[in-house]
Amino acid sequence: MKLCYACQKNKSESDFYKDEYSDDGYTSSCRDCQKAKSKAYYKAVRDALTDKQKEARKKAYNLWKENHPERYRELTTKNNEKRRLANKARLKASELLGEGLPKGESDEGGILQGD
Ligand SMILES: [Zn+2]
Repeated sequence: MKLCYACQKNKSESDFYKDEYSDDGYTSSCRDCQKAKSKAYYKAVRDALTDKQKEARKKAYNLWKENHPERYRELTTKNNEKRRLANKARLKASELLGEGLPKGESDEGGILQGD
């Protein structure tokens, strides 16, 4: 068991993400807290942006894309593969349940990718 510093609950190690840099090999807050935190963070970031900032961010991203075509291809390939697998898993799960599952966050962590 391990205490989550964020929700102060004792949870099993499997409820924590692995973190090779931490002392015990796990993140200090549990999966639920990590998810909630990153979701809230990205939402806050998105909400705080004005249209002008969004535009600037998009421009910066496009510029980065132009300057790092190889890296961009690498990242998008990886993302597409991840998305494909996630969709496949979701499809499988909804087949098993016989009902439509809610759509997942498509751009989780995709702060650079605009809207
Ligand atoms: Zn927690």
